[in-house]
Amino acid sequence: MLIDSHCHIDGEVFDDDRDDVVQRARDGGVAAMLNVGTGDPHSDDFRRAVAVAEKYENVFASVGVHPHDAKLYDDRAEEKLIELAKNSEKVIAWGEIGLDYYYDHSPRDVQREIFRRQISVAKTLSLPVIIHSRDANQDTVEILTEEFGRRSDAPRRLDAKNEDKPYQTARPVNAESLTDTVSLAACGDADKSVRAPGIMHCFGGTPEMAEKLMEAGFYISFAGNVTFKKAENLREAARVVPLDRVLVETDCPFMTPVPHRGKRNEPAMVVHTARFLAELYGISFDDFARQTTANFLDLFTVETFPITAFGNN
Ligand SMILES: [Zn+2]
Ligand SMILES: [Zn+2]
Repeated sequence: MLIDSHCHIDGEVFDDDRDDVVQRARDGGVAAMLNVGTGDPHSDDFRRAVAVAEKYENVFASVGVHPHDAKLYDDRAEEKLIELAKNSEKVIAWGEIGLDYYYDHSPRDVQREIFRRQISVAKTLSLPVIIHSRDANQDTVEILTEEFGRRSDAPRRLDAKNEDKPYQTARPVNAESLTDTVSLAACGDADKSVRAPGIMHCFGGTPEMAEKLMEAGFYISFAGNVTFKKAENLREAARVVPLDRVLVETDCPFMTPVPHRGKRNEPAMVVHTARFLAELYGISFDDFARQTTANFLDLFTVETFPITAFGNN
């Protein structure tokens, strides 16, 4: 059982076969997925993203303005997105928000301002944030550390060279709790007073950046690009992320993992990234899948997460 922590299946590219895409994911052991809304907050883009989550029981949604569109963010946009978040139980996160200095579709100072503003909205709504960062790692870390501080329960750096104890998880997962228990909050530490602030999605930074984000309490999510031949830097970063902080995602329709590179990506393909990372961590695929699923549920601690959505595999 895996969870695709970040996908975009509401887009046009899935209009012809969305039912099949969701079914294929399910058949392939992807029990749930988080569909991240993007686009113009004044258009119907976000309503559409939430509608997809409302339609499929194992699809959840996130709303928030991407740094590309930060220049479109205003009071009206904010009100509209807050309404969407409040009116659907399927909206479990705010994002993706952050900084993108690679495309610079919005002026950088506007990106930074809207990034902080959306963090405060997410805090008000008690929603975890989904962070996007490209070519802006220093500013991203700075803003997140300022906004979320440092956590005393942050994972310590594990010794990547210690072959005897590779990536031991701080909280071992009870596999039974995932299939039998109705309250999935029980998978994690339900009493945890400080909830993790969110997810650094499609991680593309250095090991140092991963450590700083984990210090601020973030989970680190890897996409298909970690499987790319030239991505040794990402694998180096993955090696410093302990198992209880790692997540996997497709970011589909982009970032298709090896061996399907070049094709349209979809949630079912998160399996390839998970297999790759399991091997990198030196654990079984099943253990990796269980752990990353527990991490996701731990972060979102949704009281009545529909267990029926999770199947039994
Ligand atoms: Zn992104
Ligand atoms: Zn995305």
